[in-house]
Amino acid sequence: IERTLSIIKPNAVAKDAIGAILSRFEAAGLKIVAARMLHMSKEQASAFYAVHQGKGFFDELVGFMSSGPVMVQVLEGEGAIAKNREIMGATNPAEAAPGTIRADFADSFTENAAHGSDSPENAAVEIQFFFPEGVCE
Ligand code: ATP
Ligand code: MG
Repeated sequence: IERTLSIIKPNAVAKDAIGAILSRFEAAGLKIVAARMLHMSKEQASAFYAVHQGKGFFDELVGFMSSGPVMVQVLEGEGAIAKNREIMGATNPAEAAPGTIRADFADSFTENAAHGSDSPENAAVEIQFFFPEGVCE
């Protein structure tokens, strides 16, 4: 059984979409096995997105991700990583399929409402980043 790290980004938290987004995960068979809210510092956001350092959108991304509270969850289920990315839709909301989280809650390419891990390796690193004390069974 697979786990993935999901983030409801500051723009979606600000528009009170936490409940709607969590409902979509649960309706799709993804169990929420850990969750917390936090307001990341610029340093935390830079560390989380370190792989994107040097890219043109990096400063805007870090500014946005540290602009307000986020809700971070660990989602568990069969094929959780791919399933979550399918529910989120394409990174660019203009290309996100109708009915996906990004189609419905994104405000721009950067403010695209949600994050989901893209591989088992990154999921493990990202879960450890936000839940260093571990996640219950
Ligand atoms: P995430 O990692 O947030 O789940 P992703 O894996 O679909 O999204 P990445 O390529 O990892 O996309 O980019 C990380 C985030 O950086 C995107 O979700 C988006 O917020 C922002 N981003 C990526 N590319 C661009 C771009 N060309 N212009 C503006 N923002 C971008
Ligand atoms: Mg990514």
